[in-house]
Amino acid sequence: MIRIAVANQKGGVGKTTTTINIGTALAATGWKVLVIDLDPQGNASTGLGIDRSQRKRSSYDLLVGNCDVIDAAIATRVPRLDLIASTVDLSGAEIELVDIERRAHRLDIALSEVPEGRWDVVLIDCPPSLGLLTVNAMSTANSLLVPLQCEFFALEGLSQLLQTIERIRARFNPGLQILGVALTMYDRRNRLSEQVAADVRAALGKLVFETSIPRNVRLSEAPSHGVPALIYDHRCSGSEAYIALARELMARLPLRERVAA
Ligand code: ADP
Ligand code: MG
Repeated sequence: MIRIAVANQKGGVGKTTTTINIGTALAATGWKVLVIDLDPQGNASTGLGIDRSQRKRSSYDLLVGNCDVIDAAIATRVPRLDLIASTVDLSGAEIELVDIERRAHRLDIALSEVPEGRWDVVLIDCPPSLGLLTVNAMSTANSLLVPLQCEFFALEGLSQLLQTIERIRARFNPGLQILGVALTMYDRRNRLSEQVAADVRAALGKLVFETSIPRNVRLSEAPSHGVPALIYDHRCSGSEAYIALARELMARLPLRERVAA
């Protein structure tokens, strides 16, 4: 089971949009996908059409050991895509977890009990912080997918993220890799956007995916309909970009894992 954490401590950079749409694209290729909503705001859960009344078990229950992954997973409208929802309880989890044994490994412990073959890939939608929730995601992930918004200061936030990744590698998860950086909300007509994209590519080289996700209103409309943009309008520029990004992402996964999936 491939485990990908979608992380960036900045809010509003496209983590949730990327998680939902990459998850949908991978499910469309036949993979069995599990999305874990690890943000107390629950945008991935809402965006996948799971309203609060359906969230009986959540990622919070998983972290504190109230239930296992199989119990917590909810089927969504997207074929082959399941969700572990988030509830408001999660907002207290950072504090509660401090007193729990192996607090940085709670998600890893939960995922280690998933039967082989149940899901091919797990995508973890992280909250906008580098606190214990994101640390739990990074401790269990094989790799990170980092959405980066094409705006001023984009690179500045990244150095903080890279430091955290180094710390996680040293302490918990030596194998943690960055699968790639995805430029989001790219606007070709905006010179700043273009300049930032060029700077990020110059600084990070091949780490940056060739596909940039354009600013596209369909991507922001879809969540209010409770479906991924890829289903809401599969031909809009945003959906097309996410399909291309998913293809690139799959090509970066080790062959062994692609064959197993
Ligand atoms: P994060 O999870 O990093 O906080 P989101 O994915 O929730 O970011 O995106 C923040 C807001 O921007 C949301 O309202 C989302 O619908 C919108 N959005 C995300 N990506 C795009 C895009 N490429 N074009 C237009 N709107 C976008
Ligand atoms: Mg989010």
